[in-house]
Amino acid sequence: MHTVFPHAVRRASQPAISIVVPAYNEAAGLDAFHLRLAGALADLESWEVIYIDDGSADATLAAMEALHRADDRVAVLSLSRNFGKEIAIAAGLDHAAGDAVVVIDADLQDPPEVIPELIACWRAGFDMVYAQRRSRAGETWLKRLTASAFYRLMHRMGDLKLPRDTGDFRLMSRRVVEAVRQLREQHRFMKGLFAWVGYPTTCVRYDRQPRRTGFSKWSYWKLWNLALEGITGFTVMPLKCATYAGLAVALLSMLYVAEVLVKTLVIGNPVAGYPSLMSVVLFLGGVQLMFLGVIGEYLGRVFNETKRRPLYLVERYKPSAVKLSV
Ligand code: UDP
Ligand code: MG
Repeated sequence: MHTVFPHAVRRASQPAISIVVPAYNEAAGLDAFHLRLAGALADLESWEVIYIDDGSADATLAAMEALHRADDRVAVLSLSRNFGKEIAIAAGLDHAAGDAVVVIDADLQDPPEVIPELIACWRAGFDMVYAQRRSRAGETWLKRLTASAFYRLMHRMGDLKLPRDTGDFRLMSRRVVEAVRQLREQHRFMKGLFAWVGYPTTCVRYDRQPRRTGFSKWSYWKLWNLALEGITGFTVMPLKCATYAGLAVALLSMLYVAEVLVKTLVIGNPVAGYPSLMSVVLFLGGVQLMFLGVIGEYLGRVFNETKRRPLYLVERYKPSAVKLSV
């Protein structure tokens, strides 16, 4: 169930590119970003950029609207509040009309100069071209460590193969965009959705830059929650773990019962101690609560999805003047 946007007539000659840029409190760096983007795409005949203001509290929207006035390739989409990057990207994809769509961060960590390479791969026939980080300059060892642990875990648990060291920086062909637009789940783990869609995929490697201005909005708590979205969105493995943990505990307890029986029959009945009782009760209580929590994670998501709320609300939309609609 998604909104259908009016489309103009396509100009047959030149395949057009839409660039989708989610931004939250990026006022300081937006002009510099746009300059570099325009420079990197100077050779392209027809492209538009859709800036999505994800409910920023600073002057981001004003900066975007200034760009919209100055450059007719700029579209501005302002969301009614902060919905988070994943949903901001979904909003951008809904409004992008290009034959190919590139998603890129506004903080210049994804160099716009890579976009022509992505486009070249798309022209060569690939539907999905993701940019893979060769280095992660400006990121702490803890972030690298947790990131790599997460990718390993996802590889192990899911049927889905997530490409390592990729973000949302990528190019999608029209049919991939249409496929992703059909996935209207509230709990969005974009990397997973992109991987779920499939189609011929390739990658271009690049060096990730440190942030130019502002600061990352990703605290470790948010990253942890993103990891939970990734896991719960694409695998029910944690639910199965409860079954096997229960089975293991039941088997062990049978062994223990046998031991108690033998001891009682052979040595008589010395009353087993309070400490062992306590440890068993506490251990089992802990395991049960933990799996109750795991079930809760899934149940909460089921609850949220059943409400079928729209993904986002638009406060304002100013389309670009470029006619590149399908
Ligand atoms: N972003 C957004 N909404 C949010 C958080 C971030 O649109 O709630 C945008 C942000 O402006 C940037 C991109 O998503 O363009 C990546 O965010 P950030 O740089 O904070 O993440 P990191 O690069 O550390 O992964
Ligand atoms: Mg960043």
